[in-house]
Amino acid sequence: MLAACQPGGTATADPTAAATAAGGGTSAECGGSADTPDGALKVVTGPIGCPGGANTFWSQKLGSGWTVPRFLEYHDGEIPQDECGAQSRDPDDFASNAFYCSLDDTVAYSAEFMAELSKQDTAYPMLVLMHELGHRASALTNRVGVVSRSEENQADCLAGAEAKFTQDAGRLPLGDVGKGALLFFSLGDDGGNWFASEANTQEGAHGNPTQRTAAFSTGYFRGLDHCFDIGKSADGGLSLIDSLFG
Ligand SMILES: [Zn+2]
Repeated sequence: MLAACQPGGTATADPTAAATAAGGGTSAECGGSADTPDGALKVVTGPIGCPGGANTFWSQKLGSGWTVPRFLEYHDGEIPQDECGAQSRDPDDFASNAFYCSLDDTVAYSAEFMAELSKQDTAYPMLVLMHELGHRASALTNRVGVVSRSEENQADCLAGAEAKFTQDAGRLPLGDVGKGALLFFSLGDDGGNWFASEANTQEGAHGNPTQRTAAFSTGYFRGLDHCFDIGKSADGGLSLIDSLFG
């Protein structure tokens, strides 16, 4: 989950044309730049082969170990129709959130949560779903963080690595990366925004605002291998300075 977890660059490239040429999905499937709601969603949900797409990124990293997951939209007040929803039976567990359910390999998200994020910045829903795909990659490769905060920081970091890939393909304007760091800062525990009551020591802790920003930046600037190191931290500690220069 994004919270309370348990269960450009020079945008001169034409991603849609490149997608068609590469045979990795039609332009309609791949979408364009993440500066529209549809484009931002399709960066994450588009098939393997779409330039700058999250599924292309993970397929390149994990080979046949990565397939496009099932994406499921639900509404606040409803129980998501996946195995995690079936096990909880409490709609409040899912309202205004997004999560990866490893029980049936589903990435589910609240439509209202995505709409709220999109109002703040068009790229935010994409970055949130990249975080969830990070959880999936951790699960598929048996590199889930040793404690909750490590796992969450690792997912933030993996979102940063995915965002870099998207930006390099000309689908994410350069300024949006800074916004991504701001997004995860705002979502940090005790960040004064959503989920502000969550303590760092609590089960399900996601890390404080600085940690989340550091994690995202680590993935963006330093890449995947550094992300999987974050998951090994026994206390989930992460320093912004270390993440950039350590
Ligand atoms: Zn999470």
